[in-house]
Amino acid sequence: MIKEQLEVVEQKIQAACRRAGRERSEVTLIAVSKTKPVDLLKEAYDAGAREFGENKVQELMDKIDVLPEDINWHMIGHLQTNKVKYIVSRTCLIHSVDSMKLAQAIDKEAAKKNCIAKVLVEVNVAGEESKFGLKVDEVVPFIEKAALLPNIKVCGLMTIAPFVEDPEENRPVFADLQKLSVDIRKKNIDNVNVSILSMGMTNDYEVAIEEGATMIRVGTGIFGARNYAN
Ligand SMILES: *Cc1c(COP(=O)(O)O)cnc(C)c1O
Repeated sequence: MIKEQLEVVEQKIQAACRRAGRERSEVTLIAVSKTKPVDLLKEAYDAGAREFGENKVQELMDKIDVLPEDINWHMIGHLQTNKVKYIVSRTCLIHSVDSMKLAQAIDKEAAKKNCIAKVLVEVNVAGEESKFGLKVDEVVPFIEKAALLPNIKVCGLMTIAPFVEDPEENRPVFADLQKLSVDIRKKNIDNVNVSILSMGMTNDYEVAIEEGATMIRVGTGIFGARNYAN
């Protein structure tokens, strides 16, 4: 069942890439497995999935411990500074950096572990009160400051678009994040390479791909509905 769902998503990714004149290889599919039991993750793994996204530190740790080592784990949820120590060096990318305090904590932990932690800056493009993330006009100064931290590398931007009935409504949100990434690239900030755009979820990933997403985060579309909303 997971295998079939993955195939459906894959077909839609390919179609969106064709429409946008993009290569399939430009888009990484992250299977968002939060709340799902490890046997379902194993099913996705057996069907070829290697990129998994989780939003809670404890759940992420539990799953890393029992699943194959060649999985790339993405931290996509809000992260508290006191939990940073558990995930630096065990995740390939932290998508949800939204404060300097958090960036500094990740940098410090990465220095301790003698590694460079790759991060994305979370941007609240639509300016929703209920969402984490920097405002659009805060992003450049934030990245200029974060670039000075020696043990983190800013690799791009992430956004969680509003929940909408019609995915077309989120097109301007994705276009704005893409535009922002171009503006930042033009600044040629040392130690910064905003090549990743993490945007698009089950409801709107095709539109996100058309607008330049390089990572899409798909949960429900692969694993089915979650029992509780998080
Ligand atoms: C849960 C979650 C997703 C996946 O949502 P779906 O609508 O199930 O695809 C993507 N990104 C983040 C940050 C999430 O928390």
